[in-house]
Amino acid sequence: MRPTLVVGNWKMNGSKAVAESLCKSIIAGLSADDTGIAVCVPYVYLADAAALTQGTPLAVGAQNVADQASGAYTGEVSAAMLKEFNCEFALVGHSERRSYYGDSNASVAARFEQAIAQGLTPILCIGETLEQREQDQTFSVIDEQLDAVIDKVGIEAFKQAVIAYEPVWAIGTGKTASDEQAQEVHKYIRERIAQKNLEIAGRLQILYGGSVKPDNAKGLFAMPDIDGGLIGGASLDAEGFLKIYRAA
Ligand code: PEP
Repeated sequence: MRPTLVVGNWKMNGSKAVAESLCKSIIAGLSADDTGIAVCVPYVYLADAAALTQGTPLAVGAQNVADQASGAYTGEVSAAMLKEFNCEFALVGHSERRSYYGDSNASVAARFEQAIAQGLTPILCIGETLEQREQDQTFSVIDEQLDAVIDKVGIEAFKQAVIAYEPVWAIGTGKTASDEQAQEVHKYIRERIAQKNLEIAGRLQILYGGSVKPDNAKGLFAMPDIDGGLIGGASLDAEGFLKIYRAA
């Protein structure tokens, strides 16, 4: 049995006060033996989140990480900087980064590599658009996005990584993949990793993301290859986020 993981992605929402109150409310709903729960907060709230979550079961992550270690890269934040704020996770390749900010497969692979080099756990987001699904390209898109990273860092790096399957058509749209649709792609991802390394595939946490809500989480998380979720909109409400966590 793989441990489950539920990660909130706050995106560019909230304020300093909202970030503090969300962290506090989530922590208040957890007990000391809870594990496998994290929030990816905007960079500017990392310090506050690190202070509030210290010694609690709630882990903290960033929503991206630079593809370089240091230097003249205005606006970027390095993996080493994130480590200074007790970050455990960093999202890489979120579809909003890929589509709005041009994060290519090559840049996502470099970000993944930087995260690993500093001991962060990258959460590699992959998934197809609606058009790609309708043209039967789901699996080839998954192959391309996955292979770009494996080719750069090697399969061993996935010992310290998480994958999030996030069909782009389900993100922030209220449309969720059915339990079976999601399971089909999760199984495919695990099998593709297994072709390179069976043991890593067996341990790898593969999260589902795309309009997960308290009322659909249980069905999705009951699927054999779905090990938890990456939660956007619904993670901005502590009570709902905790319900999703309990469903895992
Ligand atoms: C996300 O941002 O990764 C996401 C899955 O968003 P939502 O849950 O709002 O669809």
